[in-house]
Amino acid sequence: ARTTVTVTGGGADNTTIHQNMSKIRVCVRFRPLNSTEKKQFDGKLCVKELDDESFLFNAEREENVAFCFDKVFYQNSKQHDVYEFLAKPMVHDVLDLMNSTIITYGQTGAGKTYTMEGPDISNCEESNKGLIPRVIEELFRSIECSNERNLYTIKLSMVEIYMEKIRDLFDITKDNIQIKESKMHGVFLSGVTEVSIMDKKQALSFLERGISNRTVGATQMNMSSSRSHCLYIFSVQKESRKDKRSKTGKLILVDLAGSEKVEKTGAEGKVFEEAKTINKSLSALGNVINALTTGKSNHIPYRDSKLTRVLQDSLGGFSHCALLCCCSASFINTSESLSTLRFGIRSKFIKMPVNVSQV
Ligand code: ADP
Repeated sequence: ARTTVTVTGGGADNTTIHQNMSKIRVCVRFRPLNSTEKKQFDGKLCVKELDDESFLFNAEREENVAFCFDKVFYQNSKQHDVYEFLAKPMVHDVLDLMNSTIITYGQTGAGKTYTMEGPDISNCEESNKGLIPRVIEELFRSIECSNERNLYTIKLSMVEIYMEKIRDLFDITKDNIQIKESKMHGVFLSGVTEVSIMDKKQALSFLERGISNRTVGATQMNMSSSRSHCLYIFSVQKESRKDKRSKTGKLILVDLAGSEKVEKTGAEGKVFEEAKTINKSLSALGNVINALTTGKSNHIPYRDSKLTRVLQDSLGGFSHCALLCCCSASFINTSESLSTLRFGIRSKFIKMPVNVSQV
């Protein structure tokens, strides 16, 4: 029997990236089924692994869609694997003062925060630790090994974007941070709290504070923290031995608001406004990544949302960016997962539908 398989994505996409443009890696992570999902559809998965870069996605259970990305992390992937592939190279880039960004995208519950923070930012088993604690460890370990400890200053900020307003998570009295731009500093968050971090313990304790402020803020505003974008910003400053001038590189980790569609009929008032704002900023992000990867447009629409404007220097220019599309492997969520995967594919701007026999 032959079944239509639509192949989406493609490995040869790097050739489409303009030489001076950012290189954007688009990866996928499937989280394991939770206890509810295990009880439904006989605990079957909607994903069939082909290799490290491609899989069959059983979209409507008759039609398979084959997807191809830069890397796929399946249900049993380890935090360590994701870190080694996505984040570790960027830690070394930022120590070389290059801007880098890692973005997690997907519906609420798909594993974005688990990937970024782990089950608990500062208190969990070694194997469960998320990208952020691992990044911090590698930053300090590398600096210590380089014998240039005294030339580096590492600063940390944490903000969230909710309804197009930027809140400082280290100082909740600053609830409307403005974005400014200067020749010297590029695009920056004016007046945001930047704490100097000397070691891992100190960094984690600031992050704990930021995370708890995020939860408190969400309760006060009567929303879920999954409805805001959260940005963890590491600024690495290095003084030149020659002229004592400093240069800065930034590594920004972005845990996006849930990408799920909100039913127009069910959502009213604030919830609908929230959904529209999130949708708008996620589309703006997709458009910016698109414009960067194709190199077809001279105009990159950074100003279409606060999110893209804040990320301007980290997405464009000589910077590295990775987009991790987080999905559940359960049949319960196929339509949201499909929409997440399509966002990933659009970000690569490669689409080549062909008919092949069933794999
Ligand atoms: P999101 O941030 O996308 O809303 P979470 O990261 O909070 O989703 O994940 C939802 C739930 O699934 C959490 O209980 C989390 O611990 C669990 N989870 C997510 N990804 C994994 C994984 N790779 N391994 C084990 N548990 C996971």
